[in-house]
Amino acid sequence: MRTLISGGVIISFDPAVGDLGRGDVLVEDGVIAAVAERIDAADAEVIDAADRIVMPGFVDNHRHTWQTAFRGIGADWTFDDYVVAMHGTLKPHYTPEDIYLGNLLGRLEALHSGVTTMLDWFHAARSPQHADAALAGLRDAPGRSIFCHGAGYRTNERIEAEVRRVRAGVSDTGLVTMALGLRGPGEATMDSVAADMKLAAELGLRTSMHVDGLSGGRPIAELHAHGLLSASTTFVHANGISDDELSIIADAGASVSISPDVEAKMGFGWPETGRVLSAGLRPTLSADDCPAAAGDLFAAMRTAFAVQRGLGGSLNSRDLLSFVTVDAAESCGLDGRTGSLTPGKAADIILLRADDPTVFPVTDPVGTIVTAGHPGLVDTVLVAGRVVKRNGRLLGVDLPALQARLLASRNRIAADAGVPVNGTWRPRPGSKDA
Ligand SMILES: [Zn+2]
Repeated sequence: MRTLISGGVIISFDPAVGDLGRGDVLVEDGVIAAVAERIDAADAEVIDAADRIVMPGFVDNHRHTWQTAFRGIGADWTFDDYVVAMHGTLKPHYTPEDIYLGNLLGRLEALHSGVTTMLDWFHAARSPQHADAALAGLRDAPGRSIFCHGAGYRTNERIEAEVRRVRAGVSDTGLVTMALGLRGPGEATMDSVAADMKLAAELGLRTSMHVDGLSGGRPIAELHAHGLLSASTTFVHANGISDDELSIIADAGASVSISPDVEAKMGFGWPETGRVLSAGLRPTLSADDCPAAAGDLFAAMRTAFAVQRGLGGSLNSRDLLSFVTVDAAESCGLDGRTGSLTPGKAADIILLRADDPTVFPVTDPVGTIVTAGHPGLVDTVLVAGRVVKRNGRLLGVDLPALQARLLASRNRIAADAGVPVNGTWRPRPGSKDA
């Protein structure tokens, strides 16, 4: 199985390869075999990349995919609205089938938007069947996914037995791997946090934890004092975390995932891109929740870039693209496998249209993607060498049939929860805006 991606503009994020104004990528058995200006591979199947930008697929390291059926409903929500709506009002009515459809359609949408690797931060495990359904949804989409199994939201329930059960069925080498979603010090007792960390270490799972310092807490310092910092943890948001705590994260070799749209809009304050960079970390970006934000990382890059340049900072467009490719892959422990066009890595590759009227003519490919990119440019997507999207269409997916099922799922959940589906809805009418 040899595929030659021929004659594209190459953005590799591999320093040894660099960028090429015109280049070829050879894929063999799902792996990048070579990247060069000209590759002779007469027997290979050819993907013509003329008028295309060829780059590593995006990596989103934090998304609550189960919420897909309520995409866009929370445009005006504050974070407190979100908690009441998603966790308090809608989640109790989700069946395992609803979870499956949310995860499947959400994962497909991410692939459609060029996200070849996605961490599903799952916090709707109302039963073992719900967790199994979430995992099945990821497995039925042809993407590289990390099932980040979390405890419920703001609870001290014991999850060890259930996590062990799920872990026993997930390999570390397949397309779908596993991580553990940790409760933070603000959500559960330190005993619960410590038990989760111990379990993750025992089961060989990387971890992710939501943290912020918005109410004056010092969660990172607390974790540090309890010996609970690990290089394999990604801290989500980190708004308001003090400078010394960001340095503690950097010293531990851990990472930070910023969700720019959700944070800026829902009351977390400015995304901390600049402060995270100043602490010596490479930030990463995530979509977080699609009820209130877009599911593509073009949007996340643009918001983070504009906000940080507005606040003052010297970051450039290449930094932003690095945050959602090679840096994010490292935060997932997958930098040996994906995140750059490096020979030997899996062929997780996207082709973006350079001839689309919204970006033509492309003079600066990186700058164009960051300032004007959108999912409509995603022409072709390969995951581990398999073409999963071609000419702007997902392959092997009966999208109308799946969408009909998701719509029925949404309508049933909404009816059971008493939530209207004909416009913006706020669970706490009259509450003040963020
Ligand atoms: Zn989150």
